[in-house]
Amino acid sequence: MRDLNNLNREHDDKLKSQENSFPCGNCGIVYSEESGAYDGFICDECKEHEKEKVNESLYESHWENDKVQFARLINELDLLGIFTPDTLRGLADATDLSQTEILDLIERAKNVYDETLEKL
Ligand SMILES: [Zn+2]
Repeated sequence: MRDLNNLNREHDDKLKSQENSFPCGNCGIVYSEESGAYDGFICDECKEHEKEKVNESLYESHWENDKVQFARLINELDLLGIFTPDTLRGLADATDLSQTEILDLIERAKNVYDETLEKL
């Protein structure tokens, strides 16, 4: 009799735990309601994976983006100290821009690149 009661309780517990568990809508792994699962939820692992995929595709689309890559080059050249007064004078002569305008372009390029980094 006692064994039967035990069996029934185990059966009930099992049913209960199934009621309070939900499969991840992506990988199908079952999570308990206590862990934050709900009908149609996506588990943390899948969410993390999804985020990585989005970042990868963002990175690839950035590589195709001339504006971003030119800005990146200018930013790196500036960090290397390329834009000395001599270089700026030479650039100003070659481009018919003033040194102030060139410095402004460099600043704009750096801003474009910073904004891209923030989105990554
Ligand atoms: Zn999952």
